[in-house]
Amino acid sequence: MIGHDTLSAGERAYLDECDAFLSARLDPELVERMDRSEVQYPSDFIRELGEQHYLGAAVPEAEGGGGRSFMEEALLNERVGYHGSAAIACARTFTAHIGWILAKYGTDHLKESYLRPMLRGEKITAQALTEPGAGSDMAGIQTRAVRDGDRYIVNGEKRFLDGAHTADFISCAVRTDDGDDPRQILSVMMVDTDQTGYEILQTHDDWLGFRGLGSAWVRFTDVEVPVTNLLGEEGNGWQYLSEQLLLERTYATRAQLGQAIRALEIAATYAEERETFGEKLKERQWASFKVAEAATRIDAALLLNNRAARMLDEGLWAESKMEVAMAKKFGVEAAWQTVDDAMQIVGGIAYTKAYPIERIMRDVRASRFTAGSTEMMALIIQRRAFDRLRDPNFRKELVGREVEGSPVARELPGRV
Ligand SMILES: Cc1cc2nc3c(=O)[nH]c(=O)nc-3n(C[C@H](O)[C@H](O)[C@H](O)COP(=O)(O)OP(=O)(O)OC[C@H]3O[C@@H](n4cnc5c(N)ncnc54)[C@H](O)[C@@H]3O)c2cc1C
Repeated sequence: MIGHDTLSAGERAYLDECDAFLSARLDPELVERMDRSEVQYPSDFIRELGEQHYLGAAVPEAEGGGGRSFMEEALLNERVGYHGSAAIACARTFTAHIGWILAKYGTDHLKESYLRPMLRGEKITAQALTEPGAGSDMAGIQTRAVRDGDRYIVNGEKRFLDGAHTADFISCAVRTDDGDDPRQILSVMMVDTDQTGYEILQTHDDWLGFRGLGSAWVRFTDVEVPVTNLLGEEGNGWQYLSEQLLLERTYATRAQLGQAIRALEIAATYAEERETFGEKLKERQWASFKVAEAATRIDAALLLNNRAARMLDEGLWAESKMEVAMAKKFGVEAAWQTVDDAMQIVGGIAYTKAYPIERIMRDVRASRFTAGSTEMMALIIQRRAFDRLRDPNFRKELVGREVEGSPVARELPGRV
């Protein structure tokens, strides 16, 4: 298999275990029915994932999770993506990253009422960040939670919420302060969806891919949330969401790479069988070189993803922002390019439902703007890249006046 050469024996064993479970239990028919939006959030399957500790695999065992590393959780996501459904991968990543943040910052009440039932697959959560006026720009969040004694009163709208139809509760990013500093204005709270004032305004069942999630645009009108449902400290939401997003970016990208590997496998195998003008496609250099390029690209993306996951495992959260952004940007673009290559190799039949390539293409496309778009990842990378690339010996006063000498030091420090 592509991309697994650098795994430890234990990681490979876990990957094989996940693979065996998903081969046996994830019915391709279920994947197709989700894609047709006939099934939303398959609760039986999600419970089964919970029983196997595949929900919150990297959440500590003491908190009801699987006690795995972030690297192993990434491998699990890859296999879920490979076996069939971005939708199910997405359902899983919520429990993975919201679960982890609940385990780290939640009170006993939040753990008993939300975390543990969620990890058992008994309660479904949705994640509410995006608003009609605030997508990439999290600081623009306008949904307000105003404290009133021992409760908050929440008002606002959120859209594109996966699972909003079926969710029992929503991990909701709200504004608790009118200031300008994003690091102080946001809070995160668990909002029960059976509360008066929670309303679904529009469903997104017919969007391009990622179907079967019961996604929706919702409104909160004077929804009451007990103060005990606040995660951590009021005003610390930016920090919790930033940590959560590092996990989501790593896991969700891995799921897309799993899907891309599946598409590439189909295309490569097809190219060995299909003949045109009396010759196998594999014998045509354009097709075989596309396979070579895609295999290399996917391997590079997996290695970047491994690095990001391993940095998180080492506790390098603040330091890993650029590496996670690189893994996300390169990973989802690699997945998209690879699926496009796979479709080109297979030709017209790949545009039908005979092979899952067309569904994978629709599912993968969203990942280029979800969980932080490719452009937002570039913004994160360039900021840190400029800091790391700055040459302290560069003589900036000579820029534009190079006739007077080279700005680049010829005698580098340490050179004899
Ligand atoms: C399938 C799917 C599932 C989703 N699930 C959820 C969910 O469960 N919960 C949730 O909260 N949200 C969810 N979303 C929303 C998703 O996270 C947002 O679509 C994403 O954050 C981008 O926000 P936006 O769509 O408002 O685009 P905008 O922020 O309006 O951006 C539009 C375009 O401009 C670019 N752009 C924006 N700002 C800049 C900048 N400063 N510099 C350069 N380029 C910029 C973006 O990259 C993008 O290409 C989902 C979306 C989809 C499609």
